[in-house]
Amino acid sequence: MSAIAQPETLTSTDPATGAALATYRVDSEAAVRAAIATARAAAATWGELSFDVRSKHLRRWSSLLVAKSDELCDLIHAETGKPRADAFLELLLALEHTAWAAKNAARVLRPKKVRTGALMANFSAVVEQRPLGVVGVIGPWNYPLYTPNGSIAYALAAGNTVVFKPSEYTTGVGNLLAATFAEANPELPEGVFATVNGYGATGAALVGGGVDKIAFTGSTRTGKRIMAAAADTLTPVLLECGGKDAVIVAADADLAAAADAVAFGATSNSGQTCIGVERVYVHRSVAEQFLAELTTVLQSVRPGTGQGASYGPMTLPSQLAVVRRHIEDALAHGGKAVLGGLDSVRAPYVDPVVLVDVDESSTAVCEETFGPTITVSTVDSIDDAVRLANTSGYGLGSAVFSRRYGRTIARRLRVGATSVNSVAGFAAIPALPFGGVGDSGIGRIHGDAGLLEFSRAHSIAVQRFSIPGAELLSYRRTERTLRLLETIVRLVHGRAR
Ligand code: NAD
Repeated sequence: MSAIAQPETLTSTDPATGAALATYRVDSEAAVRAAIATARAAAATWGELSFDVRSKHLRRWSSLLVAKSDELCDLIHAETGKPRADAFLELLLALEHTAWAAKNAARVLRPKKVRTGALMANFSAVVEQRPLGVVGVIGPWNYPLYTPNGSIAYALAAGNTVVFKPSEYTTGVGNLLAATFAEANPELPEGVFATVNGYGATGAALVGGGVDKIAFTGSTRTGKRIMAAAADTLTPVLLECGGKDAVIVAADADLAAAADAVAFGATSNSGQTCIGVERVYVHRSVAEQFLAELTTVLQSVRPGTGQGASYGPMTLPSQLAVVRRHIEDALAHGGKAVLGGLDSVRAPYVDPVVLVDVDESSTAVCEETFGPTITVSTVDSIDDAVRLANTSGYGLGSAVFSRRYGRTIARRLRVGATSVNSVAGFAAIPALPFGGVGDSGIGRIHGDAGLLEFSRAHSIAVQRFSIPGAELLSYRRTERTLRLLETIVRLVHGRAR
């Protein structure tokens, strides 16, 4: 891979004020390769440890994160602009996931005996899960702790070492995570969990640097580029990409609960959440009341920096233009703003915006907005709601509000996860796999599936004794054995007609 030019340093800034926070050296392609080599050497030690010992190291790391929670939450707040309470929520969820991964890795990944079948009765068989080696993790800025940790903690628990490239906007948080792991575990070799810093080019160097898997979280556009680049070396990829999550509000929904959850799901973290609520399909019989409840809740939701702010500034100044463009497009496509409007975009903040009657072809409905705006469409039936929800190329999260039919409706959605009578509940349950379909990505973090993602199956078949004359995989097999097998095949597999 040829070196890609990029600046030698990067400076992270406070998105509310634009003030510089810290400057970091950008890691070159050579530095990334060196980090991977150190991680590979460390993998020999870390991968050989028992699940119990790895669990102890992960728990020590968590304890130190708790001890440093003020420093960590202040840094998340400073780099992303999100309220400190939201930063603490991220920490809490990350700790829950790390504890679950540490506790469950042995159960999920221990060797498992499997049946051999009558044909191979003289064999025993076992599936063993082995670590992959070095996992490269590439993270986004919107949840700089919780999101990459869904790969980092699970990859470590499965016996891999990790080289993490945090987002250029949240480099400080990424580096603090790796430094804390090393500080909590001084007896471990260097490189069990390390970071490399930089922009996209540093991430690209990690993808092409010979890691055993890339776990990426970020935009669909970057995910596609990473998958294409990884094809060169057949490096497997786990892609957690964007979303355009829909919420269905059925006629029998608890409307106050639905409005409260939708208001939070659409605007918290300034709407910069991959599983944020971006579209609502509400049954006509309750649409008016739902909208009244929703706008009432959102009237007291305010962005800002100080105490009492519901959410912070847009983390990336460039996102303001996207949000503005989507509101303009919605209004140009027959939509009406029943709360806020174009004036709500007042850099670096965006006030909550509720748009109704927006044409389904508008960018506000089709593209990820990543802002505190929401479209609410009235539908005549749940069939219509499901059809429109499934029209999106994305398929990450979703929610259904219905007292009686929540699970039935949920099953019809083409997504990776659904919360019934809440939003985003699935993300806080470590045992539930998390990931999307279509443009939302490939593979799963969290849960059993999230541990299996960071291991490879190694199948071992052991011949316990041989059956003279009846060997199948030998030139010593006899004509008599083959004729007997033909009879058995007819009896076992040939009687269904
Ligand atoms: P992004 O795609 O711009 O950047 C993500 C990361 O990729 C950054 O670290 C960036 O430096 C790196 N990168 C950029 N170009 C690269 C390249 N060519 N090769 C390797 N790495 C490269 O995304 P973002 O703006 O940081 O994050 C927001 C997006 O992330 C949204 O679309 C959001 O929906 C998505 N997201 C998804 C999930 C999920 O779990 N599905 C969670 C959080 C965020």
